[in-house]
Amino acid sequence: MAAHSKSIPHSCYEIGHTWNPSCLTSYLQITQGAMEESFKIYAPLYLVAAILRRRKLDYYLYRLLPEFLRSTSFLTANGSLYIAFFCILRRILGKFYFWTPGFWAALPASYVAILIERKSSDTAACLRQLLVTWDAHPSPCPSAIAGATPGALAELSKG
Ligand SMILES: [Zn+2]
Repeated sequence: MAAHSKSIPHSCYEIGHTWNPSCLTSYLQITQGAMEESFKIYAPLYLVAAILRRRKLDYYLYRLLPEFLRSTSFLTANGSLYIAFFCILRRILGKFYFWTPGFWAALPASYVAILIERKSSDTAACLRQLLVTWDAHPSPCPSAIAGATPGALAELSKG
C-alpha cells in the first residue's frame, strides 16, 4: 500500500513527452502522429473488409467514408487523449504517483475513445476493440478474422 502513495519526483516532460517541454505542443504532435497512423491502419482495413463483404455501390458512396472517419477519430482520440490525461493528472495532483501515469491516464482516454466509436457489430469494431485492449484481454476476434472467408465475415458482422 505504501508503494501506491510514493510520488515520482519528475515532471511530465521528463517521463512523458521528453521531446518537447510544452504539454500542449506535445499533445498536438501526438494527435497528428496518431491521426496519420490511424489513416494508414483503417484505409486498407475498410477497403479490404468492404471488398470481402461484397458491399454494394451505395456502401462505397455513403457509408464507407463516415465509418472510416469515425474509426480514425476513435484511434486518434485514444492515442492523443492518453498524453492529455497524463499531463492533466500531473497538474491536478501536483506530481506523479505510481498509479497515475499508466492506468489512470489510459482509462479516461479509452472511455472517451469508445464513446466516439458507437457501432460495435462489425469486423472493424472488433479490431478497434483489440487495439485498445490488446494486452489486457485476449479476444477470440483475431483467430476469427485471420481464418475468415467472405461468408465468415458476413456471419461475424451479424453478431
Ligand atoms: Zn505534460
